Amino acid sequence: MKADLHVHTTASDGTLTPSKIVDLASAREIDVLAIADHDSVDGLTEARDAAEKVGIRLLPAVELSAVQGSADVHVLAYFVDAADPRLLERLEGLRAARMRRAEAMVRALGEAGFPVSVDDVLALSDGGAVGRSHIARALVAAGAADSVSDAFARLIGRDRPYYVAKDSPSPREVVGAIRELGAIPVLAHPGVTRADELLDELISAGLGGIEAYHADHTPAQRTHYARIAAERGLLVTGGTDYHGPGAPNPELGSVHVPEDAVRAILAAGEGL
Ligand code: AMP
Ligand code: FE
Ligand code: FE
Ligand code: ZN
Repeated sequence: MKADLHVHTTASDGTLTPSKIVDLASAREIDVLAIADHDSVDGLTEARDAAEKVGIRLLPAVELSAVQGSADVHVLAYFVDAADPRLLERLEGLRAARMRRAEAMVRALGEAGFPVSVDDVLALSDGGAVGRSHIARALVAAGAADSVSDAFARLIGRDRPYYVAKDSPSPREVVGAIRELGAIPVLAHPGVTRADELLDELISAGLGGIEAYHADHTPAQRTHYARIAAERGLLVTGGTDYHGPGAPNPELGSVHVPEDAVRAILAAGEGL
C-alpha cells in the first residue's frame, strides 16, 4: 500500500491544483493520499471529487501554523471536517496572520531596495494561503534571487534578515484545538523543527501522532521518531511534503511510509 500523507496544492504554497495532484498520485500508483495545505482546507473538495473518480483514498487534512518562541512549529490535523465553522474561523485567523506577516516582510524587503510588492506576492498566491514561498517566487521573478532556495538561504529563511515571525498560537493550543474539532493532531517534521523538547507537553495536550517519515528526515531521524511514537503509543505518519515540480522536495509518493503505520491511521480515522 503506497501512501503520501503530506502534500500541498495551490490552496497554499504548492504549485499544482488539487486535481492535478490527485492525477499525479494516480499515475504514481498512490493508494492513500492526504492533502495538508498550510492553514487552508480550500483544496479538499476538489481533491475529494478527483480522488473518488480514480479510486484513491483521500484523507482530509491541514497543516496548521504555530509558533513557540521564535520558531515555527507545524501541526498536521488529519480527518478534519472541512465544513466545520469553528475550523474555518480558526483558519481565517491564521491566514490573516500570514497576510500581515507577508506585508511586513515585503515592507522590509522594499526598504532594503528589493523590488517586490504585496500585489506581486498575492498574484502568485492567487487566493491561496500566502506564505514565504510566494515571496521567494516574487523575488526570483524580480531578478533579486536566483532561485526559491536562494531566496530562503540569503533573505527570508529563519535567521535571515527579512524573516518575520507569524503571530500564531502555541503548538499546545493548536493540538488541543484540533482534538476539540474531532481530528487527529500530528506533529509535523519534528526533526526539521527540532521540537523534541515540546513532546511531553504536546502529548498531554492530546497529540495523536508524529510525522517520522518526512522527506527532510534522515534515516536516523525516521527511526528515532518512529521509536518515540511506539514508546508513547502514538501514530506515525509520513510523506514527501510535495509542493509541485521544481520545488526542493522529492517526487510525490517517494517517501516510504510503512503499511502498518498507514493502516493504523486509517483505523484511527474510522474510530473518530
Ligand atoms: P511559511 O509557512 O510562509 O513560513 O513558509 C514555510 C514554507 O516555505 C514551507 O512549507 C516550504 O514550502 C517553504 N520553505 C521553507 N524553507 C524553504 C527552503 N529552504 N527552500 C524552499 N522552500 C522552503
Ligand atoms: Fe510549504
Ligand atoms: Fe511544514
Ligand atoms: Zn508541509
